[in-house]
Amino acid sequence: LKIVNNDALDMTHSSHHTRAPSGRIAYVGGRYLPHGSAGVHIEDRGLQFADSIYEVCAVTDGRLLDEEGHLARLERSLGAIGMKAPLERGPLRAVMREMVRRNHLRDGLLYLQVTRGAYARDHMMPATAKPTLIMTTRRLAPEIVEERRRNGVSVVTRPDIRWRRCDIKATALLANVMAKTEARRAGAYEVWMVDEQGFVTEGASTNAWIVTREGRVVTRDLSSSILAGVTRATLLRAAAAAGIHFEERRFSVGEARAAAEAFITSATGGVIPVTRIDEDKIGSGVPGEITRRMHELYRALSASEAQS
Ligand code: PLP
Repeated sequence: LKIVNNDALDMTHSSHHTRAPSGRIAYVGGRYLPHGSAGVHIEDRGLQFADSIYEVCAVTDGRLLDEEGHLARLERSLGAIGMKAPLERGPLRAVMREMVRRNHLRDGLLYLQVTRGAYARDHMMPATAKPTLIMTTRRLAPEIVEERRRNGVSVVTRPDIRWRRCDIKATALLANVMAKTEARRAGAYEVWMVDEQGFVTEGASTNAWIVTREGRVVTRDLSSSILAGVTRATLLRAAAAAGIHFEERRFSVGEARAAAEAFITSATGGVIPVTRIDEDKIGSGVPGEITRRMHELYRALSASEAQS
């Protein structure tokens, strides 16, 4: 098996590298395997049709953050495409913990994917395919995320060309991948996708938020136009408990560019300040005070709920 030259991957089997095996362990179809040699069948429907659901869960100090939220969303996404979870919640939690343990993961990400399984290629969903459960882990140095949190990031806006079931966390991410790549090539960290009425839907892999000049925290209301972010949900709970005013409603690109503050949320980064949208500085061009407070609230609540 040959894999691409990418630092994020285990290069044990790359012909261009002679690195020692990394010791990373993947979970595929019921087995724990060396990351570099783990794979799925070429007829797997995840590969052929993106007939497949995923989740990304942050690990901090060896503990999974927002685990129940991610498991609940996994079940919802699977239900939406007529699949059952390959494992009940209990055994699934056990495999997740075992992956954290075997990979000696303290800070990073646990990636989980369920595909409909391998089957002779046919668009029609097979009734009998056995789902493939995949898990990988990846280290993420907290300093890298903290640097983004300190300095803030830029976003650019692009038309949202995705399908109309963005509430399903499917691996069919080509539109997100194209938009994110354009953003990175334009020197930005994230892209905010914009619907046909000129309202921001969300980032390619984050939810989008603004803070109005009146100090109101705004994020788009849930619908099939966006993913129901688990970080978003935890942050809204934390904000409500702290008595912070927030509004779940659409906001336009114009409103965002004129906002006092802006930020993005995801399991990967928590709350990250946005200091520039297209050509406009947000506020004074540095991370805002309310954004910082939102980060503290998110961190406190997610840590208090995290399970070992
Ligand atoms: N929106 C999209 C399109 C995403 O892909 C993600 C995460 O990957 C999010 C929002 C943030 O969701 P969460 O907070 O559950 O990571």
